[in-house]
Amino acid sequence: MTRTRRQEIAAKLREGERSFEDLRHELVLTVRTLEDDLGHLRKSLRAGGERLVVRPAVCADCGFHLSSTALHPPGRCPKCRSPRLDGPWFHIA
Ligand SMILES: [Zn+2]
Repeated sequence: MTRTRRQEIAAKLREGERSFEDLRHELVLTVRTLEDDLGHLRKSLRAGGERLVVRPAVCADCGFHLSSTALHPPGRCPKCRSPRLDGPWFHIA
């Protein structure tokens, strides 16, 4: 019995928080595919009374906390323009 990729992602996020990049490397996905999967997951979880919780990205250089809860990593820090951003992180509540 093989689980679908989205079920796989959901299972990982029920175990605990994962960053976008963790998920992407563990499942070997493109940014676009993972973002798409997370979007679908967010909708389907809602139907089951669960919630995809997003913790926004943080700049690795200046520590700025981004406010965006977008499902993909931002390109650059809006404060210092650094491309070195950690997160966003996700889990299921
Ligand atoms: Zn920054």
